[in-house]
Amino acid sequence: MSKIKENIDKINSQINRACLDDNRQNSVTLLAVSKTKPASAVVQAHLAGQNDFGENYCQEAVEKIAKLSHLPNLCWHFIGPIQSNKTKQIADNFSWVHSVDREKIAIRLNTHRCEKLKQAFAQEQCHDTPLNICLQVNISEEDSKSGIMPSEVFSLATVVNNCDYLTLRGLMAIPAKNADNDVYKKMQHLFNALQAQYPSVDTLSMGMSNDLALAITNGSTMVRIGTAIFGERT
Ligand SMILES: *Cc1c(COP(=O)(O)O)cnc(C)c1O
Repeated sequence: MSKIKENIDKINSQINRACLDDNRQNSVTLLAVSKTKPASAVVQAHLAGQNDFGENYCQEAVEKIAKLSHLPNLCWHFIGPIQSNKTKQIADNFSWVHSVDREKIAIRLNTHRCEKLKQAFAQEQCHDTPLNICLQVNISEEDSKSGIMPSEVFSLATVVNNCDYLTLRGLMAIPAKNADNDVYKKMQHLFNALQAQYPSVDTLSMGMSNDLALAITNGSTMVRIGTAIFGERT
């Protein structure tokens, strides 16, 4: 058995255990973060049943996505900081974007997704759908981190919700190292409030290799795991 498969099985049982401990009904999606790792590592993970993959760097991701376009059911998530000159590549190649934190970026993603869908329609490849969007929240209010302040969530949500080619799915956060339970809880409350207002909202993207259980206990529905699946990044 490959090391990657072994790691994925281990993470999936950790997720299941955390869900049981939390007594929850809804499931948690595992997003395998393959940034800096070769396409061959993604193939290994896919053979182990993994379909959702996260990438941070546009150029690297686009090359990997093209190389792996023959694999069925892959779903690519962009989770890194977004420069506005990369919005076309992102809208063309990804199904999800977790790191939207500016109105300008949302508008540009919407415009490029519209062009892509119209093109697909003209070529009778109608399987493309609106781009799934999570707003990145700087929940620990760190100067160094991207993301909007908690107080800005509802105004940016309105913008995304008004975009025809975007679907508002939820929120993403990277709590500070060693953040306590209150920080995660704050994110859960924000998510619940957003969900109460928008029926399309079903995703709280929170939790990485080191805080998976804490995130799930506080309502995460999608964990983004890199190191614990693919090993340390160099
Ligand atoms: C790299 C990265 C991850 C994965 O982190 P690990 O600690 O390797 O699990 C998750 N989310 C984001 C936004 C990342 O940039």
